[in-house]
Amino acid sequence: MGLLDRGIEIKRPEQIDGMRKAGLVVGNTLELLRATVRAGITTGELDGVAEDNIRTSGATPSFLGYQGFPGSICTSVNDEVVHGIPGDRVLADGDVLSIDCGAIVDGWHGDAAITVAIGVVPTEVTDLMRVTEEAMWRGIAAARLGGRVTDISHAVESHVRSAGGYGILEDYVGHGIGSEMHQPPNVPNFGRPGRGPRLVEGLALAVEPMITLGGKDTVLLDDDWTVVTADGTWAAHSEHTFTLTPTGTWVLTALDGGERALAALGVPFGGR
Ligand code: MG
Ligand code: MG
Repeated sequence: MGLLDRGIEIKRPEQIDGMRKAGLVVGNTLELLRATVRAGITTGELDGVAEDNIRTSGATPSFLGYQGFPGSICTSVNDEVVHGIPGDRVLADGDVLSIDCGAIVDGWHGDAAITVAIGVVPTEVTDLMRVTEEAMWRGIAAARLGGRVTDISHAVESHVRSAGGYGILEDYVGHGIGSEMHQPPNVPNFGRPGRGPRLVEGLALAVEPMITLGGKDTVLLDDDWTVVTADGTWAAHSEHTFTLTPTGTWVLTALDGGERALAALGVPFGGR
């Protein structure tokens, strides 16, 4: 283990099974929110739906109280990229909303995010959402036992660059996850392959491209949480938590374990 591997948490299979329980709570909560989102609802109401679902599932919302964060989900609208605080904002037809959700079961974390359109949005926005989600899957699909963390980074960036003139955030990145939500290593959404810590069984990573219709630069709002694009362009965010097993890739926050999306990319499913 080299210096870059310091602090990386390697989970035993039964601990990964614990992370799967947390991941399913996150996945189910996000699907509930996807079905609940509509014009006229506030982001605070969505937060209440999320917290109720997480708690009735026997889990704890990991975001609530994290470094003082006041919500159980992050709700980021339009030019807000990540870490938006749920509250009184009323969603309107034509908005785009990123929802980031985390849950803890028996001390193990899951972390995932989706971006949804409210009503009809311009084609460039639906393209942005699709490219962002595709890039996340390409990143996960690039991970192999024995590979390196930036194999993921390179796959994310390559897909985004091939799709058009989008901005890829560099100030915010994916991360290791396990007994804490944010652990080493960082998982950037850009860069050359073949670098960083080695991908081994028992490592769990959150892959989360944050992509804009403009540049990569961001500004932190006065609430000290909400990250907006510096140029005011709209953004999208997709995230899943995954791990590698001896038989393939297991997306712990996907309801089907990622089996369908991985198969489409020719990647063996490693769930159990
Ligand atoms: Mg997240
Ligand atoms: Mg994350």
